[in-house]
Amino acid sequence: MKNRNTVLILGISSILILISIQVFIIMGVWKQKNEMFALRYSMLSKDALTFISRRMPTDGFDTVRFLLTKYSEQANKELHAIKDKKELIEKKKDILDYFTKVVTQEQDLSGMLSSYFERRGFEKNFNYSIVINNLEMINNDTIVVYRSEDFANRLSADRNIKSPPSEVSRSKILVNWFIEEDNNYRLVFDYFIDFSDKQRVVWEETSLSLAMAILSILIVVIIFIITYRNLMEERRLSNLKTDFINNMTHELKTPLSTITVAGKTLEMPQIRSNDAKILETAKLIGKQSIHLNQLINMILEISMWERTQFQLDKKIVKIEDIMNDVVDSFKSGGGNNASINQKYNFKGAEIDLDVVYFTTLINNLLSNAVKYSDKEPIINIEGFTEGNTVCIKVVDNGIGINRIDQKHIFDKFYRASTGNIHKFKGLGLGLYYVKKIAEAHGGDVTVSSRPGKGSTFTIILPNNL
Ligand code: ADP
Repeated sequence: MKNRNTVLILGISSILILISIQVFIIMGVWKQKNEMFALRYSMLSKDALTFISRRMPTDGFDTVRFLLTKYSEQANKELHAIKDKKELIEKKKDILDYFTKVVTQEQDLSGMLSSYFERRGFEKNFNYSIVINNLEMINNDTIVVYRSEDFANRLSADRNIKSPPSEVSRSKILVNWFIEEDNNYRLVFDYFIDFSDKQRVVWEETSLSLAMAILSILIVVIIFIITYRNLMEERRLSNLKTDFINNMTHELKTPLSTITVAGKTLEMPQIRSNDAKILETAKLIGKQSIHLNQLINMILEISMWERTQFQLDKKIVKIEDIMNDVVDSFKSGGGNNASINQKYNFKGAEIDLDVVYFTTLINNLLSNAVKYSDKEPIINIEGFTEGNTVCIKVVDNGIGINRIDQKHIFDKFYRASTGNIHKFKGLGLGLYYVKKIAEAHGGDVTVSSRPGKGSTFTIILPNNL
């Protein structure tokens, strides 16, 4: 149990670690694809800008320039005339709003970029945004209308603002930064684009790695489950074998020690003079030898089945006659303390049977019904034909079998764990034998039972004569 839990914990932990590693890798791939996407469009935008500056008559900001020049002369004068601080703030705000509006709405760069992307077979639909970094109104002296923190930092790092800010922002792609100026103003702004489809494209590009990761995890999980189940099955079988060896030793020892004691008894002078006692002891030895022989034969036969197919010696018999014979001989043998009732409706059915094996099958069921009983055993045997089958039910009033054991009782060596092996002796082979014989005849055996409420074993055999 402890071992089993260790295997489970180790297995599950390794799978969890594998999943975490895969998640980590996929996140890395996703991030990389994301950056590649941004980089691709960032480089493409740079090409587009070079192309526009070399080949186009405009850089896309002509209208912007015209409007701002027209506006800024007057605005500049007004701004410089204002003394009141509050009024100055208001005016700066108006100027910034106007500049933002004009730069955003009147530029033609977006249209030019879009058609450049389209011509080169890239996605042409994107959103753009313009972020003003610095706006100064210039007269004799300069009034800073707006300055972003980022720009201020850049300024302090390099007075000439040579390097543009980072190429790729998280969600937006920086195309370029621009400076527009004339005698009255100086404007620095960034131009960004972003694609609404970006996440879809990136996920599509990541999907192969994702699928491979999921597949590899699935394969590992399946391999783990199969290995674990095999391991558990092997352990179960090995436990069954150990139990079998213990039970077999116990089973073989009982008749052997009886024979040994009987032999010693025969050596005693007072017994040798008593004919009746000699006969009784000899009979005992004979009975125990037969029992011993049966046990050994059963074990030998089962090991033979493992290697060769069942060899049936079938003949056509009336099933009702056979049932009566088997039950009668059982009653006069091991089942003499049981009350056995028979109710048959075979309608004279004749089937192809190996009588010896069939007798063993019924005998095993009947002796189990007697053996696994904690009170006076009452066994009801029913038999009838149903379509192309013959059905035989052996119903007992014994201790019953729980649901879990019911699944295994037909397995080789299996003995119900609740059964006290000293009280109910056995090798766990009887029902295995029953199942094998039924199957060899093209039939089957099933059980229905409840602990404390007895059991019903149903044999179905084909009746296709
Ligand atoms: P064995 O009797 O030698 O243990 P069997 O293969 O005949 O082996 O039976 C397997 C197990 O099924 C038994 O150990 C017992 O627990 C259970 N069993 C079989 N027949 C009955 C029955 N009629 N009533 C209750 N339990 C039964």
